[in-house]
Amino acid sequence: MTPSKVAIFWFRRDLRLFDNKGLYHALSQHDSVLPLFIFDDVILNELPANDHRVEYIHAVLEGMDKKLKELGSGLLVRKGEPWYVFNQILQEYAVEAVYANADHEPYGILRDKEVSGLLQQNGVLLHQFNDQFIMPPGSVLKPDGSPYTVFTHFSKKWKSMLSSNAFEHYPSENLLQKCCQQPAHTFKPLQFYGFVPSGIFSPTANLTPQVVANYQNTRDYPAIEATSRISVSLRFGTLSIRQVTRMAFEANETFLNELIWREFFASVLFHFPHVVHQSFRKEYDRIQWRNNEREFELWKQGMTGIPLVDAGMRQLLTTGYMHNRVRMVVASFLAKHLLIDWRWGEEWFAEKLFDFELSSNNGNWQWSAGTGTDAAPYFRIFNPLAQAVKFDPDAKYVQRWIPELGTPQYPTPIVDLNAARDRCLMAYKVALQA
Ligand SMILES: Cc1cc2nc3c(=O)[nH]c(=O)nc-3n(C[C@H](O)[C@H](O)[C@H](O)COP(=O)(O)OP(=O)(O)OC[C@H]3O[C@@H](n4cnc5c(N)ncnc54)[C@H](O)[C@@H]3O)c2cc1C
Repeated sequence: MTPSKVAIFWFRRDLRLFDNKGLYHALSQHDSVLPLFIFDDVILNELPANDHRVEYIHAVLEGMDKKLKELGSGLLVRKGEPWYVFNQILQEYAVEAVYANADHEPYGILRDKEVSGLLQQNGVLLHQFNDQFIMPPGSVLKPDGSPYTVFTHFSKKWKSMLSSNAFEHYPSENLLQKCCQQPAHTFKPLQFYGFVPSGIFSPTANLTPQVVANYQNTRDYPAIEATSRISVSLRFGTLSIRQVTRMAFEANETFLNELIWREFFASVLFHFPHVVHQSFRKEYDRIQWRNNEREFELWKQGMTGIPLVDAGMRQLLTTGYMHNRVRMVVASFLAKHLLIDWRWGEEWFAEKLFDFELSSNNGNWQWSAGTGTDAAPYFRIFNPLAQAVKFDPDAKYVQRWIPELGTPQYPTPIVDLNAARDRCLMAYKVALQA
């Protein structure tokens, strides 16, 4: 055991050294802070060896370790189930406190409860802070204390709750010399953790004043790079939500509303955890899905014969990213035209999306399938051809992803859109009448 006491800062969804609220509090309160990251086996065991998100996390951690090494410390990286890792660390170090930023998803809450219990048995407290959201799940409530289920009402309340310190900066970057590493560790390569490079790279953030200023005019056109591409950074916390939201607040209300959608879906998951497995409105679980596996496979591979759908699905396969407008179109097409259970699509997105986030993915899938909170009514079915005419008028986006478009190699549509629309309306109607 090392003689001197340390506080631990446990990085999870907040992989940055600057403006990190929990890290700032740890460094402010303690002279010696051991920065820790755990590659969590509970999560990793579900992933393929070439998972691009793990590769991304590893690269970000390497950068953080390098920066800390320049200041004389480094990042302690462990692999295992967090409870066991902490049990081990408690034997190795004289831990006086553990700090972390709160994780509000069901698994995170459970994991933290278990770790906190172990720490308490050893006389150590787990201090948690809200760093991931401006208004953390559970904080935006109706006057009677119940959660909002309609976005417009949620966002109105959210905006009314903004105080002058909502975007406060927590200068953890100025206190990093208090980080310690005893003994010194070498940073291990990706392969050490059982993973290999994927060849897929995170979309580059495009958060420029110009993108934010023009956002409402250009965000729906997938052929142009007119959205911020910050979803991966927000997912893993490489950007500070306070800095991003301040920028949105000062410059563009439409862009601000998108950030509030993220907080809304986190709130829905927090208050209604049944959405992980069931429709938000349980009567929608009576829908008789067709669940045709061949059609699902063609959808996944971008071979449905509907160009905008195929372009989006190929963009996802190749890059791990898909433009939001196209996400809505492919999701609606799967759930409504193909009548395939939205949970199948949700799972495919979870496997492929770089920015996969349980709450946003689930909330948007349920919105698209019409099973969610304030979802578009089920009879409003996106026509993917009309969407293409409107949002990809020069067909630049579809041509970029479907080089064989217009040749005999490109498949004919797997469904007649009109007949599939009628079939969907009938299936939803029957389910809701039952
Ligand atoms: C079926 C479906 C699944 C989705 N799954 C995810 C997911 O797993 N993870 C994820 O982060 N987003 C998800 N989204 C929301 C949205 O598509 C992405 O956040 C957005 O495309 C990311 O690109 P961007 O950063 O350029 O977004 P921008 O348009 O620049 O928006 C800025 C930020 O606002 C937030 N945001 C924007 N739109 C939404 C939205 N509809 N819901 C929640 N937050 C939003 C994101 O954090 C985003 O990075 C999904 C949307 C659909 C229709």
